[in-house]
Amino acid sequence: MKYRNFPMVPRVVFGHGSFLQLGEILMPKRKSSEAPFIFFIDDVFEGQPLITEVPLLFNDQIIFISSEEEPKTAQVDVLVAKIKESFTEMPSGIVGIGGGTLLDVAKAVAIMLTNPGSAAEYQGWDLVKKPAIYHVGIPTISGTGAEVSRTTVLMGPEKKLGINSDHTPFDQVLLDPKLTHGVPKEQWFYTGMDCYIHCIESLNGTYLNAFSQSYGEKALDLCHEVYLGDISKEESRDKLMMASWHGGMSIAYSQVGIAHAMSYGLSYLLGVKHGIGNCLVFQYLEEFYPEGVKVFKQMQEKHQIKLPTGICAGLSEEQFDIMIQVSFGLVPLWENALGDNWKEIMSYDRLLQLFKKI
Ligand code: NAD
Ligand code: ZN
Repeated sequence: MKYRNFPMVPRVVFGHGSFLQLGEILMPKRKSSEAPFIFFIDDVFEGQPLITEVPLLFNDQIIFISSEEEPKTAQVDVLVAKIKESFTEMPSGIVGIGGGTLLDVAKAVAIMLTNPGSAAEYQGWDLVKKPAIYHVGIPTISGTGAEVSRTTVLMGPEKKLGINSDHTPFDQVLLDPKLTHGVPKEQWFYTGMDCYIHCIESLNGTYLNAFSQSYGEKALDLCHEVYLGDISKEESRDKLMMASWHGGMSIAYSQVGIAHAMSYGLSYLLGVKHGIGNCLVFQYLEEFYPEGVKVFKQMQEKHQIKLPTGICAGLSEEQFDIMIQVSFGLVPLWENALGDNWKEIMSYDRLLQLFKKI
């Protein structure tokens, strides 16, 4: 058995209002007055008070990015080209401010500034050769675990797949629960459930080990407090931010499972976003995760979240086939969920029937 030697985020700040310390955190990382910091910020913050608190100096630049669609390899390539032609020096660093979408864009651009070619060439495992430039992640919505993970999930010309590498994790993360204040309720639920589902899939997987279990159990407890408990809004924001962190750590040394495998199919074919896609699938997985799905429905009930229906109604056989192929392509997820003989358990037809329910 060869054990993996994983990098972790080496520095993290946690605290309400800690965003105001960003300037002093970045200062020692400034290479020269010609080497800017580039801030990728979710465009939901355009014109909001947060922008006035971004510690701009010299030729620093803010680039607003829409999270309407999940990040694409072509988008990353364009951003890298733009930065290279706009500045004489390599940036001092990249800062991503937003949800999983913005965090992934920031990670990918930081990698592609030092590695040649297109981001699509690096989708996969351990294909990145050169260290990325300094990059900082600042989540404004909690759940994905993208702030701790060693991947950046991108939609490429051929596949939706992460750039998984030792150079992907952030050099610095800033966790300021205050930034999650304005998240709409539905989105709070969908992205938070990404974390909940990470826990269920990790804790019920065949890859489970004490490392993953310790983080997964903590994250699951926190999710229960946030979505079923009776705690203040402020406490809830703090706890969900830490749940996301622990949930992300839990899957580092294990894997996700069926909901993620199917949700990738939905996303690839129909552009359904990660958080809601996971919920759409997970509600029908009681055969595989009975307790997890039962509690999920309680949470949904408590917060009166109505999931859309008929997402797959009217799809052609070819379209179902594409989703199934994408989904079956994620072999480690199935192995984790169902074991080595997963192909015997999850037949083509059984998966087709599950997709048809959505
Ligand atoms: P997101 O980044 O797509 O944002 C969801 C919505 O919330 C957007 O409309 C955004 O504008 C809004 N929003 C964010 N912060 C807000 C705030 N403070 N106030 C108001 N609105 C706010 O959503 P997400 O669920 O965090 O991320 C999903 C993405 O993360 C997907 O692209 C998925 O592939 C990726 N992901 C990555 C990893 C990883 O390890 N790298 C893990 C899971 C998911
Ligand atoms: Zn996820």
